[in-house]
Amino acid sequence: MHTQSWHSVSTTLDECIKCNICTSYCPVAAVTDKFPGPKYVGPQAQRFRASVQTHSPDHSVDYCSACRVCNEVCPTGVRIAEINARAKAQIVAERGIPLRNWFFGRNEILGRIGNLAPQIANLGFHNPFSRFMAEKIMGVARHAPIPHWATGGSFTTWFRRTQSARLKSDKKVVYFHGCSTNYYEPAVGQAAVMVLERNGFEVIVPPQNCCGLPMLNNGEFPAAKNLYQNNLTKLLPFADKGYPIVGTSTSCVLVLREEASEMLDLENDHTQRFKNAVWDMSEFLRDLHDRGELDTEFRDLQMVLPYHVSCQVRAHRMGRPSLDVMTLIPGLDVREGDAKCCGLAGTYGYKAEKYDIAMKVGQEAFRFVDAQAGASFVTADSEICRWQLQHGTQKKGRAPVEILAAAYGLFDLEKRQLKNP
Ligand code: SF4
Ligand code: SF4
Ligand code: SF4
Repeated sequence: MHTQSWHSVSTTLDECIKCNICTSYCPVAAVTDKFPGPKYVGPQAQRFRASVQTHSPDHSVDYCSACRVCNEVCPTGVRIAEINARAKAQIVAERGIPLRNWFFGRNEILGRIGNLAPQIANLGFHNPFSRFMAEKIMGVARHAPIPHWATGGSFTTWFRRTQSARLKSDKKVVYFHGCSTNYYEPAVGQAAVMVLERNGFEVIVPPQNCCGLPMLNNGEFPAAKNLYQNNLTKLLPFADKGYPIVGTSTSCVLVLREEASEMLDLENDHTQRFKNAVWDMSEFLRDLHDRGELDTEFRDLQMVLPYHVSCQVRAHRMGRPSLDVMTLIPGLDVREGDAKCCGLAGTYGYKAEKYDIAMKVGQEAFRFVDAQAGASFVTADSEICRWQLQHGTQKKGRAPVEILAAAYGLFDLEKRQLKNP
């Protein structure tokens, strides 16, 4: 059984003892004067935010990156990041959402449109002139590591195309791929399918939607609610059949399992049954190993591999399942970093006014990765972290499940593709 939240957001506000520990750990407050820190914009300002008031007391909350470091260190369990997210939603309700943030929230739609003609989309979005114009007109940081569309087709297209060759088994799992795997990094999903099949599971990929994280982080709660409810309708029947729902994006998993229903006040029997079925991929594999059911016939992988701990992994309170599983691979020298945050934080570092902050926050993680002599790859459970670390270090980002698929001899890490597609 995986972990679940133990504190509801609204009841934690009064637990603040004003110790300021959160402020001393906040990676954003440490690098910019524009953000006064978690205590100030969180529990303190929240006392002045009534649902009926038309003016929010502190708009600097917009500079909170939602990294959740404050939640982790708060000695009394105040859910500061979630309080901040609700404050952003209140500001959006008062003032409307900037066009740029509206677009950021629709990454599923953008992914689908770009996937129609990925070469053209990449050319259109990823040339110096369009990035310059996007920064000037929309405020999208021109140097930020926005991903490229996969030119070989989406993950779901590949899955449908190879359906007849897929393993059939009594042991079934549902795979939640999320938008980034589907449209930008289908290799991650392919590796996940291979790893699950290697362990005897039939993989089901039902229709699904974006988890809603970009909308939650940008204060668009009603739209995020629609997405969450769509996912609930599509996936709860599988949960009710007893099928685990496994995701490779730890940030999507956190939203499905915890954040969305809490922040959107959707706690009920349906959401509880759904949440109980949702697993992070590495956590699921570690659980298999604990039960003696994980295939550990790994090949030797002689390499140094820096591992950045994504904030969402910490927020899950599930330990370090990716490390636990990767350390089973002979020859692999996985090294855990202790940087608080890579800085990108969802869509935060894509915003022109926040890009420099994100890069400053990321320095600690970049230094750690660069210090691991001999490493050519870097891994992290969140794709956003991998993109930022690639951007800040020039190392190639790979998901833990790609490392595992390579150790099973099924995946080429260098070419980033299955050995037998
Ligand atoms: S760490 Fe927690 S208790 Fe201390 S000031 Fe921050 S919110 Fe309040
Ligand atoms: S979520 Fe991160 S950026 Fe926001 S207040 Fe907490 S520590 Fe600071
Ligand atoms: S980008 Fe990575 S390190 Fe940064 S906030 Fe997100 S998960 Fe955390």
